[in-house]
Amino acid sequence: MQNFEATETFAKELDEQDSLRHFREQFFIPKQTNGKDVLYFTGNSLGLQPKTTRNYIEQELKDWETFGVEGHFHAKNPWMPYHEFLTEQMAEIVGAKPIEVVVMNSLTVNLHLLMVSFYRPTKKRFKIVIEKGAFPSDQYAVQSQIRFHQSLKSQVSGLKSEDWLIELIPRNGETTLRTEDILQTIRENGDEIALILLGGVNYYTGQAFDFEAITKVGHEVGAVVGFDLAHAAGNLLLNLHDWNVDFAAWCSYKYLNSGPGGIAGIFVHEDHASNFDLPRFAGWWGHDKTTRFLMGDEFVPMRGAEGWQLSNPPIFQMASLRASLEIFHTAGMKNLREKSIKLTNYLEFLLKQIETDRIEIITPKDSNDRGCQLSIRVINADKSLFKAISEKGVIADWREPDVIRVAPVPLYNSFLDVWKFAEILKKR
Ligand SMILES: *Cc1c(COP(=O)(O)O)cnc(C)c1O
Repeated sequence: MQNFEATETFAKELDEQDSLRHFREQFFIPKQTNGKDVLYFTGNSLGLQPKTTRNYIEQELKDWETFGVEGHFHAKNPWMPYHEFLTEQMAEIVGAKPIEVVVMNSLTVNLHLLMVSFYRPTKKRFKIVIEKGAFPSDQYAVQSQIRFHQSLKSQVSGLKSEDWLIELIPRNGETTLRTEDILQTIRENGDEIALILLGGVNYYTGQAFDFEAITKVGHEVGAVVGFDLAHAAGNLLLNLHDWNVDFAAWCSYKYLNSGPGGIAGIFVHEDHASNFDLPRFAGWWGHDKTTRFLMGDEFVPMRGAEGWQLSNPPIFQMASLRASLEIFHTAGMKNLREKSIKLTNYLEFLLKQIETDRIEIITPKDSNDRGCQLSIRVINADKSLFKAISEKGVIADWREPDVIRVAPVPLYNSFLDVWKFAEILKKR
């Protein structure tokens, strides 16, 4: 860890040295009732609004006003190919080739669509590996996929649905998973695993998984490997293509600042780009775009991730995501990650000064094993601590039973924000 100091002057110096500090001015920071900026640490839940978002959406409102249906071709940014305008920058965020990425739908919908193609249980190989305590929507999605297949495959339905699921559980007395244990579980159950589906970063503990090692071992045993990147996209430096991940899905309203309910993204590895034998649920926007409007009755999928699209996508949602992706592109994921590591390390350093019998950080200590978020366990689940800091202008979140999640985001959080937060926590 760097030589940090726990003073306001030092925090301000870190801000001065920060070449990304001006990006904060490109976002609206919510205000407290006293008119001061809140201390916003929930970019992991809903990212802040870029000041440019309004222009992007207004452009589309204007073109709709001016052109009506002709906007599909004559809008400044024609709606027909609009999703393509986002592909390259989204691919940059997750370390993918453009053919591997598309924006569409919402996250849980996409998980289901991708499991239709990539969770293909057989009599011998039917289990799904997930982390225990995965985000509830992922658990429900996985459980319902299992039950769906069980109802179709009476030959293996003698087993209860729990028997189709392998949940990764930390060792006794530990709160996060060890990679060696994950890999061992995969190896031990290798013959029976159809799919490994983990969160890239666990939403609760903030633990980042070793994508590369898990994918490698998953493939060695013959399983398909997918990741839910809700808490990883725009947070970690990702390299999905080189890591050979089969598929991934993520939302864009957390670190990617697209606004509430924003349009989501998917990744399908190039290796599967032309595998038209994979079962998939189809819709007209996944059809070969050169013949889509011949309105033929036979589905001919596009190559790559685009072939998983169903509907013509929401232009306003894509416009708002575009505003944010432009900012990411300008700032550069590598630079952001570099700042993020320093920012979170500084937060950790300050918390350590006050880490007493009141709080404990449960997020892994090594920067490689986490993104920007730190999860602070409050001893005795004393929720009044959370209430007290909220009253002082901190926006963080409380996750039952006893955790405060704090995510300093490198695009708009400063070292001074982090210092002020620690002061408030200390004085409570
Ligand atoms: C935020 C989040 C979701 C939310 O799913 P939606 O379909 O966007 O509502 C799902 N899974 C994980 C891991 C998340 O962090």
